[in-house]
Amino acid sequence: QDIQAYSPVSSRDKITLEIKQGTPAPLKLDWNESTVPPSPSVKEALKDALEKDMNLLNWYPELYSRKLVSKLSGYTGRSANEILVTNGSDDALELICKVFLDPGDHVLVPYPTYTHFITYVQSRGAVLKKVETPDPFSPDITSIISNVTPDTKLIYIVNPNNPTGVLLSKKQITTLCSIVKNAVILVDEAYFEFSGETVSDLIDVYPNLIVTRTLSKAWALAGLRVGYILANPYTVNELSRVLNPKSVSTLAQVAASAALSDTEYMQRFVNEVEASKIILLDFFRKKNITAHDSAANYIMVQHPKLEKLLAEMENENIFVRDRSSFKNLPDFFRITIGNHWQTEDLIERLERVLTRI
Ligand SMILES: *Cc1c(COP(=O)(O)O)cnc(C)c1O
Repeated sequence: QDIQAYSPVSSRDKITLEIKQGTPAPLKLDWNESTVPPSPSVKEALKDALEKDMNLLNWYPELYSRKLVSKLSGYTGRSANEILVTNGSDDALELICKVFLDPGDHVLVPYPTYTHFITYVQSRGAVLKKVETPDPFSPDITSIISNVTPDTKLIYIVNPNNPTGVLLSKKQITTLCSIVKNAVILVDEAYFEFSGETVSDLIDVYPNLIVTRTLSKAWALAGLRVGYILANPYTVNELSRVLNPKSVSTLAQVAASAALSDTEYMQRFVNEVEASKIILLDFFRKKNITAHDSAANYIMVQHPKLEKLLAEMENENIFVRDRSSFKNLPDFFRITIGNHWQTEDLIERLERVLTRI
């Protein structure tokens, strides 16, 4: 009864049901999804698979997504027994909470964070301990370390962080791992492809380190739900005792394998996002609007007339995420970065919006 439901405020329904004729195409920039579809090879692979054998649908999927694991092994440079594929990385986060958390265990989380994780913590009866640093936009490992107690069972670090975009360095996470030996250190690398930074090789050194990743962001497969865990073989084995081995659908496995075969396509999009981010930050700077750079595919923007601004943006079919409910993010919204032409279009619309507030 005490669990706070994750409030999934998405513009999807508005976009699919309510868009009026004659208005500009929606810019869905609220959930950090890719703003472009996945590589064309994904569509080809799905079509081929279905044409070849419709038993694909009446049979259960390949257990433990073994073919996909082997693809991921090539991509991550980790061996197959260090990888566990899950139904989105949300599923990975929930699995980790299920396996490691007992009622009353403490979970340290630098705050603000990815709030969906909190629901999984609370559903285990574990206790969330927020670490609120003075400046949410500056990477701070000492505040986290100084809050660790003998009751700390798990530390959840989103890197780069969502929603702030702040990236802790590998050195900082190494410091944390070298000090904290009796708690699980969970590093959520949902935006790894954008930051280019990973701590995945540290799983060789620190048995309590677990990394999660997703194909929902840079790989443009949010609708199919594929994520994965990187951890040492012992941990992977323990986690797989509880994992449902058929939870990733056949079509998701096929699509993910195809996407991973076209790294170039993904990298091109990531590069465009990086260039667009610079253009957008520059735009806000020229308008005297506070905007923070980030290591991911989104930035945080602050405006004193937030409510009016968001309403006017919706009138231009621009959908972003209001993050002002976090007490140390007053008047902030988060905006996902798209490709080059989407960013030009966005700026044109923002020019109009700003004349109205
Ligand atoms: C988007 C996001 C996720 C969810 O990813 P799925 O793989 O789609 O479940 C997990 N963690 C963070 C930090 C995210 O931003």
